[in-house]
Amino acid sequence: MLQAEQIRKGFDGNEVLKGISISVNKGEVLAIIGPSGSGKSTFLRCVTQLETVDSGAITLCGETLVKNGPDGKAVYADKATCSRIGLRIGLVFQNFNLFPHFSVMRNITEAPIRVLGKKREEAEATARELLKKMNLADKADAYPYQLSGGQQQRVSIARALAMEPEILFFDEPTSALDPELTGEILKVIRELAAEHMTMVVVTHEMKFAHDVADYVVFMDDGTIVEQGKPEQLFDSSTNERTRAFLARYH
Ligand code: ADP
Ligand code: MG
Repeated sequence: MLQAEQIRKGFDGNEVLKGISISVNKGEVLAIIGPSGSGKSTFLRCVTQLETVDSGAITLCGETLVKNGPDGKAVYADKATCSRIGLRIGLVFQNFNLFPHFSVMRNITEAPIRVLGKKREEAEATARELLKKMNLADKADAYPYQLSGGQQQRVSIARALAMEPEILFFDEPTSALDPELTGEILKVIRELAAEHMTMVVVTHEMKFAHDVADYVVFMDDGTIVEQGKPEQLFDSSTNERTRAFLARYH
């Protein structure tokens, strides 16, 4: 579903991704962990087309988004291909990013109607199902400001799911939430994992990553320090940087 090879990205001559290679198979959950500033968000932003890479290759859902040209610089697919790939993936942000002036219902149905050309009735029926699944059946007419952070984040997950993505990316979905609201978001992601949704989750929730991820990548300073199965990384890593990082979470 995702293959990223040797992704490099710099801002004003400062390289923040120094050759990141990651692959995710259908139905797998990949967790990306690492200290603040290590390039996790930048990597997700590159894969979801919110940033462009300097070099490297990205294939999503079997389609090539970008690859290296003869001069070693990134060459993107044509516009139509890029937007088609964009429609096959979903992204859930740290700060929910709901449209503040739209109701919950409209937040979820806007893109399916405008972008996928779905009929309003059909989009609303899907939205109701998703809201039920998110335990928010009674919030369709509420506005984002009337909801808790945890509820807003569940709406933004419903909004992403309404586009029927083949792979879903989460950038620290719980880090803007009070600890008591974190559990409800993690529960939703666990349920999606049980349904074999393909997901890439940047997270500081180590227990969650340990339990839910099929594979874990530890990033530091724009590189992948270590990657492997959760047991390997969390319970028996011999890498000093990994151990030092994890020690902060115990
Ligand atoms: P993480 O998500 O792991 O905390 P980020 O990907 O947000 O890390 O940031 C990695 C580095 O890239 C940081 O040093 C950050 O300041 C820098 N960076 C991210 N986005 C930009 C940008 N748009 N312009 C300049 N520097 C950026
Ligand atoms: Mg980040």
